[in-house]
Amino acid sequence: AIWNLGSINADMVYAMPHLPAAGETLAARSLDRFLGGKGANMSVAATRAGSEVHHIGAVGPDGAWAVERLTGYGVGTEHVARVAAPTGHAIIAVEPGGENQIILFPGANRALTRVHLDQALDLAAAGDILVLQNETSMQAEAAKLGRQKGLCVCYAAAPFDADAVQAVLPYLDFLILNEIEAQQLEQATGKTPGDLGIKDVIITLGAKGARHIGGEAGSVLEVQALPVTPVDTTGAGDTFTGYVLSGLDRGLAMSEAMSQANRAAALMVTRRGTADVIPDLQEVQAANF
Ligand code: ADP
Repeated sequence: AIWNLGSINADMVYAMPHLPAAGETLAARSLDRFLGGKGANMSVAATRAGSEVHHIGAVGPDGAWAVERLTGYGVGTEHVARVAAPTGHAIIAVEPGGENQIILFPGANRALTRVHLDQALDLAAAGDILVLQNETSMQAEAAKLGRQKGLCVCYAAAPFDADAVQAVLPYLDFLILNEIEAQQLEQATGKTPGDLGIKDVIITLGAKGARHIGGEAGSVLEVQALPVTPVDTTGAGDTFTGYVLSGLDRGLAMSEAMSQANRAAALMVTRRGTADVIPDLQEVQAANF
């Protein structure tokens, strides 16, 4: 099984005539509400790929719809706590040319407590996968506990923060990051991601595919991105991560897991939206590129 300590956000997308300037009051033309947050996206992706996923997270009094939607997608939500803080949300202003401006309010995602984490991970078994990203509280505690319990501890270093990643580094079996985050990590640690002593490292390379560094002899494995016309790249990285971890959970070899993840992420960049449009394994296998 996969345990995901992850964010749950409401993505509130406002269509604006232009991005508001300081001091300006401007009416939006429309409002759409989507399920988002890197954590929720990864849980949906890994579930769609065929894994049993338990989401560990928190929402506020206004978050019942988000939990219902996650449950509807087949994600285990028995460890999503209800807290007093408002559900995490992103206020996203988009102008007709596609430029955006985002206010992110972490809210309930940062209100998760140790008791709550312990309750969930008590039920995890050695060999299960634990995945974390940098949008919740309790990351270092979870990584340490996961290591103690013999879980495969995975970290998606996004949004990048040098202190947050340094706090979990000693406990990681698996690190996944994009090219920019890899550079930031190198600056912060003075080491390349392949030299951190982590068993498996994947760097996603956008339109250039992805690279795995690891194995016994520091081997390098690459997949080429598939030829698609990108429409919206949000959620591509989260979809890749959810799929690659599900592949490993389902017993695939790394090369096969990466190839599935690369196909799923390629499909994802051809779709508008995030969690709600992540493809399932059947679509991923049937896609013609
Ligand atoms: P993030 O969204 O986290 O920045 P990337 O941009 O590296 O991550 O994209 C994640 C994955 O999505 C890539 O490894 C690749 O598989 C896929 N992908 C992203 N952009 C494209 C593209 N233009 N064409 C095909 N696949 C893409």
